[in-house]
Amino acid sequence: MDIDQDKVVGLTYELRADNEGGQLIQKVDENSPFYFLFGHNNVIKGFESNLKGKSTGDDFGFSIPSDEAYGPVRKEAIVELDKKVFNFPDKGKEDEMLQVGNSLALQDQNGNPLDGVVLSVDEEKVKMDFNHPLAGVNLYFTGEILEVREATDSEVDHGHVHADGAHS
Ligand SMILES: [Zn+2]
Repeated sequence: MDIDQDKVVGLTYELRADNEGGQLIQKVDENSPFYFLFGHNNVIKGFESNLKGKSTGDDFGFSIPSDEAYGPVRKEAIVELDKKVFNFPDKGKEDEMLQVGNSLALQDQNGNPLDGVVLSVDEEKVKMDFNHPLAGVNLYFTGEILEVREATDSEVDHGHVHADGAHS
C-alpha cells in the first residue's frame, strides 16, 4: 500500500541538522516507531510531501529547508524580562531555574504555554529565547517505512492515530 491521504504510516527516522553528517537531533528506532495519520497536519508539510507514494520497506533520505520546517529564528522572539515576572516562591529555586541554557515552561498573559531558553541573567533582567528549538535549522531525515495501513473511520474523524484501534 502506498502512502497517501488518510493512511496510517509507521516509520523509523533519524533527524540531523543540515545533512547526513550533521548533528543528531532525534532518533526513532523500530522499538518505538513513529506513527501518524497522513494528510491531517500532524507533521510538517515537507515531511509528508517527501514520503507520499512510498510503501512498506522503502528507505528515505531527504532534507527540508528551515523555512519549510520550523521557520527562521525571529528576533522578536528573543526578549528581556523583569526577574520579578518569574515570581519564584524562594530565592534558591530562582537561582537554580535561571541558569543560562535552561529550558523553562512559562505561560503568556493568556495562559498559553510558552517554552523558552535562558540566554543571560543579570541583577534585574533575564534574556529569554522563545524561538522553536529547531527554528533556523535545515532538517535532514533518513529512515525506513515499517507499515502503511488504511486509517479507520474514527481515526479520520479525529485526525489522529488510535493505538491498537482503541481510544480513551
Ligand atoms: Zn481519537
